[in-house]
Amino acid sequence: MHTEIAQKTIFSFFGSPGSGKGTVAEKCVKDLGFKTLSTGNLCRKHISLETEFGQLIDGYIKAGQLVPDDLITDVVGDWLTANTSLGVSVILDGFPRTRGQAEAFLKYFKDFLPDYKFRVICFIISDEEVIKRLTNRFVCENKNCQAVYPPFAPSVKKEICELCGGKLVKRADDTIEVIKERLRRYPQYSEDLLNFYKSAGVVTESLNVEGKTIEQVFEDFKALLKK
Ligand code: AMP
Repeated sequence: MHTEIAQKTIFSFFGSPGSGKGTVAEKCVKDLGFKTLSTGNLCRKHISLETEFGQLIDGYIKAGQLVPDDLITDVVGDWLTANTSLGVSVILDGFPRTRGQAEAFLKYFKDFLPDYKFRVICFIISDEEVIKRLTNRFVCENKNCQAVYPPFAPSVKKEICELCGGKLVKRADDTIEVIKERLRRYPQYSEDLLNFYKSAGVVTESLNVEGKTIEQVFEDFKALLKK
């Protein structure tokens, strides 16, 4: 059911890799009727389908680097155009991630989504917890599913995704070296992005996820929606 309080809103979920953005976004799709686009999932889908875009971005993802802004903003723009016609609220999971992406997004937003609100939710978590989470998580290999499981989930024992029956595997960029590289780069672009939001008058809201279960984080997010 779509909540009255969060109609026609584009949420940007921003935060370290492994902070649970995707898991909360999926819960919002299931329980609140939102739509979500994970730019990471979209990139991985293109790579496994070996599209032209997938071939262009493969090297960046394997190295734990960000995909260039112009490539990512084009695909997000196309997705928004196709998915906002019914006025549904949307979560952009992991986008915008840089100042360049935010500039391009805000331009698109002003031109094409004048009756929408834009809210940025920053997931707050320590690097230690991120490393613990990412080195232990499993994901569904099916490129159309990509569901994420913590190590203690019953499906992990069976190695089978409970949503689609796909095989559960470790993500290629969830190795300790690549995680550390992703964490090293995160403050470099996030500081610049947050400064840009400040200068553009975009308010950012914090969601502390350290040591919390998905249910607790979801409750905290719903409390933010009432504000
Ligand atoms: P994620 O699944 O969000 O952890 O993203 C995995 C990888 O996809 C990142 O390390 C980047 O290489 C790429 N990626 C995802 N979203 C973006 C974005 N907004 N800008 C640039 N690269 C991205």
